Amino acid sequence: MAFVITSPCHNEQAAECVEVCPVDAIHEGDDMYFIDPDVCIDCAACETACPVMAIFSEEEVPEEEQKYIQLNEEMAKSFT
Ligand code: SF4
Repeated sequence: MAFVITSPCHNEQAAECVEVCPVDAIHEGDDMYFIDPDVCIDCAACETACPVMAIFSEEEVPEEEQKYIQLNEEMAKSFT
């Protein structure tokens, strides 16, 4: 399991999540951030820090945001 960044991050990119992540799992994309599920250690620090509530644990991603699970994984890989 990992945490996932969803649509409220679009054009928001507050970046508080990047500052609190202890393992640098969060990467900056063109218009939002993405979490690398292979690096994330499920600490939940980013979920609490996000001012627009864009971050969910994979199991709690809302139905309409499910596509972001795969998108985070794909985009994170493109940065590595
Ligand atoms: Fe980083 Fe923790 Fe968020 Fe995973 S849950 S991306 S380890 S801050």
